[in-house]
Amino acid sequence: MVEIYASWSPGLVDDSAALKILKDSKIIAGIETCDVDNTLNKIEKAGLKYNLHNALFKQKIGLDNPNFINALIQKPNILAACKNSYPPVLSFHAGHEALWNKYITKEEILSNTVRNIKMLDQTISKKIIFETPNYYEKLFTGVDSVANKNTLFYVTSPEFFRQVLAKTNAGYLFDINHNLVSGAEKIRLKEFRGEIQDYFAEILLAVAKETYQIHLNVPNGNPIDGYLDIHGPLKLAQKNSKLVLMLAKEIIDSCPNIKVITMEETSGLAPKLHAKLMVKQAQLIQKHLL
Ligand SMILES: [Zn+2]
Repeated sequence: MVEIYASWSPGLVDDSAALKILKDSKIIAGIETCDVDNTLNKIEKAGLKYNLHNALFKQKIGLDNPNFINALIQKPNILAACKNSYPPVLSFHAGHEALWNKYITKEEILSNTVRNIKMLDQTISKKIIFETPNYYEKLFTGVDSVANKNTLFYVTSPEFFRQVLAKTNAGYLFDINHNLVSGAEKIRLKEFRGEIQDYFAEILLAVAKETYQIHLNVPNGNPIDGYLDIHGPLKLAQKNSKLVLMLAKEIIDSCPNIKVITMEETSGLAPKLHAKLMVKQAQLIQKHLL
């Protein structure tokens, strides 16, 4: 069974009326958050589940960080929250080190990611899943721009997904928007020959059986100027939303093991309005995708 999770938003867990809107919807299982302190107990008290995502996000530490395991061990409350997160899968970012901290080689990215996933497997009895970043030109700045560009190309490619999946028991978190932004940019820069659907078909070949979760939201922009990852909502009449829904349908039809769909939206709305938006988005997902 696929469960739908709402995204966290500022003030949401402190607003009992907003939490009640989510709970009463009956189609939203809970809230996905990277925040542990003073958050998870409030979600549970409202009768909702929590899905901990990117537990070390505040420290800017992902699976390819060399100190990932040490950082996690030093935070017993975060480790406990990882173990107690409700879904059978637990997700982290992989491939963000060059964006968050400093340049590391492709070999280091792969070996760190594999080692950290294997260590997590010994401590946490959940399927560990990884999410990969966006690839777009404006991220390639600074002295290491060429090296960073190559690194980012690698961590957004099916080659990296396949290598991690082959060397570990991990699964993939398919962030549709990240892959759409990346694919469109590679097409725009003539680094991939084909349409966006061809790009997704290649990724699905690498990850379809190992995809356990989807992040769903809508970018702005267009194929000519490039897309931007703004975590926008689905709006049926809008071109980008239609594209995301079409790609999401392909993914859901191709991936038999999906357990969680998260509406990963940064609405900017006050808690009750955010909750209402989440319910409407969940209804759209249920109607058009499930
Ligand atoms: Zn995501």
